[in-house]
Amino acid sequence: MADKIITVTSPLLPSLDDFIPYLKDIWDRKWLTNNGHYHQELEAALAKYLGVEYISLFTNGTLPLITALQAMRITGEVITTPYSFVATTHSLWWNGIKPVFVDVDEETGNLDPEKIEAAVTPHTTAIMPVHVYGNPCDTKRIKEIADTYGLKVIYDAAHTFGVKVNGKGICNEGDMATLSFHATKVYNTIEGGALICRDEATKKRIDYLKNFGFAGETTVVAPGINSKMDEIRAAYGLLNLKQVDSAIARRKVVADAYRKELAGVPGVRCLKDMPGVQHNYAYFPIFIDEKEYGICRDCLYGKLKEKNILGRRYFYPLISSFSTYRGLESANPENLPVANKLADQVICLPMYATLTDEDVTRVIDAVKEVRK
Ligand SMILES: *Cc1c(COP(=O)(O)O)cnc(C)c1O
Repeated sequence: MADKIITVTSPLLPSLDDFIPYLKDIWDRKWLTNNGHYHQELEAALAKYLGVEYISLFTNGTLPLITALQAMRITGEVITTPYSFVATTHSLWWNGIKPVFVDVDEETGNLDPEKIEAAVTPHTTAIMPVHVYGNPCDTKRIKEIADTYGLKVIYDAAHTFGVKVNGKGICNEGDMATLSFHATKVYNTIEGGALICRDEATKKRIDYLKNFGFAGETTVVAPGINSKMDEIRAAYGLLNLKQVDSAIARRKVVADAYRKELAGVPGVRCLKDMPGVQHNYAYFPIFIDEKEYGICRDCLYGKLKEKNILGRRYFYPLISSFSTYRGLESANPENLPVANKLADQVICLPMYATLTDEDVTRVIDAVKEVRK
């Protein structure tokens, strides 16, 4: 009999029994969306959990990126990373902004701050970095550069739910930060997301923008979009928030086991925990050095699949190689050697709270066996 399939991720689900009373209450209230009871409750609960002051809920994690750019009237060129999920760059395209790709740091996969300044032009208005895999960017250096050139900073913080640096929530960095609560993320509301900003006036503007630009019954102040979160998903989100800490704790156990067991396998590199950082173990990427490991990344990917272990090549191909973007000057692979290297070496191993010890052992043994 074939071994059971181990997927790369599995959603964190609240218990159905716990959810039903919430549904009953929503049916009784007959208020399904537009800043309802549970929407307000979840906004308050998330602000507290994340240690941020102003947060607006969204229907997914892409629309907060698009709305952040709208809210700050970003135009021209924005410096960003090719080593991310496509939504990061798509949000620029949807605003008619030209993405300018800058290479990443090999140790973290994050935008390399030392390469940002060379990409600044008179048209540059902002930087959009990603805390990839939930590992914090060099936010201090990025802020220095942004301040020097008068640029805004919008962090795509989709991977960072619960991440703290020296006790402070990572979403406090930058002019704005966005989160995704997609089913595959550490914390989910099935589909969902959030935009975090720094002052009440900006939150107000964001809340107009996510509701068609309505500032009152008959006043429309901007060409806003519809990206509101509904009551059912807000209630679901309240329940998932109660169990996210224990889910992260289990992820840490899995990450520690992977790191310990794979440390001695030549040609396999794992990322390290960073000093002062409370991680969320959103993903577990390994990077395969073909010469030392003996076979190529795609060969390992295929062999794992044969063993019913479904890794994923996040992030391959690079965003800069997709048809929409590959014609850009900054998309030239010669401009992005490190990002290209990581994209060619990476496999994310299965990582989620309900992985069993046996599953983890099977994954580790498979990575060791394939090398032989
Ligand atoms: C998941 C993700 C998004 C988009 O989130 P959705 O909720 O799927 O729209 C944006 N950026 C990054 C880096 C992501 O991983």
